[in-house]
Amino acid sequence: MASRYDVIVLGLGGMGSAAADHLAARGARVLGLERFGPVHDRGSSHGGSRITRQSYFEGPDYVPLLLRAYELYERLEREAGRAIALLCGGLMIGRPDSTTVAGSLRSATAHGLPHELLDAKEIRARFPTLAPQDDEIALYEARAGLLRPEATVAAQLKLAAAAGADLHYQEPVTDWTALPGGRGVRVTTPDDVYTAGHLVVCPGAWAPEQLADLGVPFTIERQVMYWFAPVGGTAPFEPERHPVYIWEDAAGTQIYGFPAIEGPDGGAKVAFFRKGSVCTPDTIDRTVHPREAREMAAHAGARLPDLPGRLLRAVTCMYTTTPDEHFVIAPHPAHEQVTVACGFSGHGFKFVPVVGEILADLALTGTTPHPIELFRPSRLGGR
Ligand SMILES: Cc1cc2nc3c(=O)[nH]c(=O)nc-3n(C[C@H](O)[C@H](O)[C@H](O)COP(=O)(O)OP(=O)(O)OC[C@H]3O[C@@H](n4cnc5c(N)ncnc54)[C@H](O)[C@@H]3O)c2cc1C
Repeated sequence: MASRYDVIVLGLGGMGSAAADHLAARGARVLGLERFGPVHDRGSSHGGSRITRQSYFEGPDYVPLLLRAYELYERLEREAGRAIALLCGGLMIGRPDSTTVAGSLRSATAHGLPHELLDAKEIRARFPTLAPQDDEIALYEARAGLLRPEATVAAQLKLAAAAGADLHYQEPVTDWTALPGGRGVRVTTPDDVYTAGHLVVCPGAWAPEQLADLGVPFTIERQVMYWFAPVGGTAPFEPERHPVYIWEDAAGTQIYGFPAIEGPDGGAKVAFFRKGSVCTPDTIDRTVHPREAREMAAHAGARLPDLPGRLLRAVTCMYTTTPDEHFVIAPHPAHEQVTVACGFSGHGFKFVPVVGEILADLALTGTTPHPIELFRPSRLGGR
């Protein structure tokens, strides 16, 4: 029996909606299956803002992908007719030998990216909300800024549907099988059984359940985002004069934050980068406790004294972290007709459209011109 679909995409969050968009734009017959509704807050792609930047302290290998992601985000804004990026500038702050500063500088130098180095006095003069220690410096990148995750996912879903993709919501995949001899895949949901030539698996925090046979030890982490009403109002925190920032202390703890982008009553968002607790999508505690909020206010207040006025809200989100914090993007090692994208380790959103392009390449041609060697699952002792 001939399949109605060339490709099924499992999960329509950040990465899956990008894959559906790129696949449908190339003329593939696409079915997207999503457990929840379109643009939801149960996974990893919600909360109003994500940092984007190019001087990437996680490694220079990411920079070519970032340059392409910037182009594709611009294209997405044009095609969908909505604003997604706000490039308000970004500061990577810490001691000169911190991962945040030294790593960012390494990528900037390796790829000739425009940047400035500011000492503590220069930081205070240009950005008066920030109170660095005398031994802290910053790499400033004018093209850093933020992306709106909900607008990104909505735009990609809209374009995918307009290009003919069938997108089914409230329809979780309960089972998938790669058919022997490379004869495509069979995907089961409570509503139906579907066949297709290829399956793209973008399960976010459900990776341990959907991709157990990859053999990659994923850790699902509960993370909290906090919105504070600054003391004295949001004016000094508005994006015309306030950058995004990642700030590493002497112990290696990183916080990151955003300008106030939600109007005078919306506050400014701040969070710890990697201070999560282990959870599963079923067991995550979605309540944010007063002691956590006090810890965030104290840590942020020591650096941005006016930020933590009143706590307006706090929302949980999940990271899917690999042991080396690099992504997993590859053909499934055991099934050539399956492609996987997961383990984004808390830093995937800025790559969303380029991951969509890579997934479309892999699903339709088996290979991609993009450098994805770093993301092969076998590096982690998997199959
Ligand atoms: C608090 C927080 C802050 C972050 N900050 C940044 C940042 O500043 N910059 C940055 O670049 N990145 C950031 N990230 C990381 C980034 O947001 C993630 O890497 C990215 O959103 C992951 O996208 P995804 O598609 O893998 O997951 P998701 O968007 O969660 O999508 C997975 C989808 O799969 C669906 N699904 C799962 N199982 C099934 C099934 N069986 N059947 C059907 N559907 C299924 C889920 O419902 C979900 O919609 C942050 C993440 C968090 C949580």
